[in-house]
Amino acid sequence: MKFDRSGVDALMEITSRPELVFVRGQGSWLEDHNGKRYLDIVQGWAVNSLGHCPPELVKAVTDQAALLINPSPAFYNQPSMELAKRLTGASCFDRIFFANSGAEANEGAIKLARKWGQLKRNGAYKIITFDHSFHGRTLATMSASGKPGWDRIFAPQVEGFPKANLNDLESVRALIDDQTVAIMLEPVQGEAGVIPATRDFMRALRKLADDNGLLLIVDEVQTGMGRTGKMFAYQLSDITPDIMTLGKGIGGGVPLAALCARAEVSVFAHGDQGGTYNGNPLMTAAGVAVFDALAAPGFLDAVNARAAQLAQGLNALSGKWGMKGERGEGLLRALMLDRDDGPAIVDAARDWSPEGMLLNAPRPNLLRFMPALNITEQEVDLLLARLDEVIAKVRS
Ligand SMILES: *Cc1c(COP(=O)(O)O)cnc(C)c1O
Repeated sequence: MKFDRSGVDALMEITSRPELVFVRGQGSWLEDHNGKRYLDIVQGWAVNSLGHCPPELVKAVTDQAALLINPSPAFYNQPSMELAKRLTGASCFDRIFFANSGAEANEGAIKLARKWGQLKRNGAYKIITFDHSFHGRTLATMSASGKPGWDRIFAPQVEGFPKANLNDLESVRALIDDQTVAIMLEPVQGEAGVIPATRDFMRALRKLADDNGLLLIVDEVQTGMGRTGKMFAYQLSDITPDIMTLGKGIGGGVPLAALCARAEVSVFAHGDQGGTYNGNPLMTAAGVAVFDALAAPGFLDAVNARAAQLAQGLNALSGKWGMKGERGEGLLRALMLDRDDGPAIVDAARDWSPEGMLLNAPRPNLLRFMPALNITEQEVDLLLARLDEVIAKVRS
């Protein structure tokens, strides 16, 4: 197949992309328009929790599409209730609102916290978020994010998101005033370069929130649904947040996200929240299939085994090449480079012949790994061996 320039020109230019068109995928492998195969460690940006086109997801979407696609969010549908029951059963939350993207789920979390502040905290509305955090690309979630420069791109910002430093409790405490309603964070900062909040920090935040009558909101859009080796990353530190958002992996690749809240915090009145596609049976049926695969006996054990294998292999590579180690939780990991050749490594891995490999460098001195949660032991071995070859080539 030829690369179609006119097709490229018809798309709004929002980022630089390689001149490749991906035409099919299976498991951890993607194939481009020339028939070249790639070991995919990006997986649609950590969304394909079960890899490309897993049979159970294909079946769920196909069956549901033939049955009922969208009766309207004003009516109940079976898959949305099935998925909500599964999520409340597996977590500390009692109520679920389904959304279409992580940013939209986070908007919902912000609205819910502000509504709770109006009802219970005298109109308090400020939500303390963190430097370098990422919560999405709507105006409010960009304002909540701590990405450098984002305070200026579409100024003025949505007000009310003072920024603290991750793993620095005093920096959070110092921002609390009588207008503060919540603290919101990613248990592992993903886009910032896979920086985990420590277990102690998560526990201390819970206590700080309790002591000051604040809500604790975890943005688990990237860390939720098995990514860290637990179903939800907050479970790593044994705390009970008040609100959680899910996205990415929950749909296994299709647009699905969720706002999860404890009963006491579920204070939306009729009309406060909604959306045309929200909770539609086509996407929530996909979510049920993904959830059941992740909850099957042994699935998370395998995630943890692959995570240990990947961590050990990355540490070995770091030692061999004089890099700065690795970090992460579960199958969300990063290799810290000793120089800014991350983008060169990503390009060389993709262009490798005859088979390529897709990696991500969220920062020039760091590689991020977010494989399918069901990546095999052999595929992790291949990833590590190929990465070693690529680094040798780039650094020769
Ligand atoms: C990706 C991401 C989002 C945004 O999700 P979208 O589906 O792209 O809107 C929000 N928070 C975190 C932590 C993310 O990783």
